[in-house]
Amino acid sequence: MARIGKERIEDLSCKCTKGDIAPFKVMEDCIECVWCGNKIVCKPPIEFVLKERCKNCGETTTFIVDSLGTKICTKCGKF
Ligand SMILES: [Zn+2]
Ligand SMILES: [Zn+2]
Repeated sequence: MARIGKERIEDLSCKCTKGDIAPFKVMEDCIECVWCGNKIVCKPPIEFVLKERCKNCGETTTFIVDSLGTKICTKCGKF
């Protein structure tokens, strides 16, 4: 399961990889995949991460829940 650090979140889904293994940097107004630069717009800090089926991706991915309580898919950036 994902590990949430202050500046980095490990083990998330991303469009650049299969499985939940991508590291993301935490920025001011988004998180960004270290490997492919995929930007997921959100309001850090990230409260927690959960696994759920994304309707947009059509598969089980990781979702971040940000400081506003918004749940966002880390693969496609949709709610
Ligand atoms: Zn990526
Ligand atoms: Zn998605």
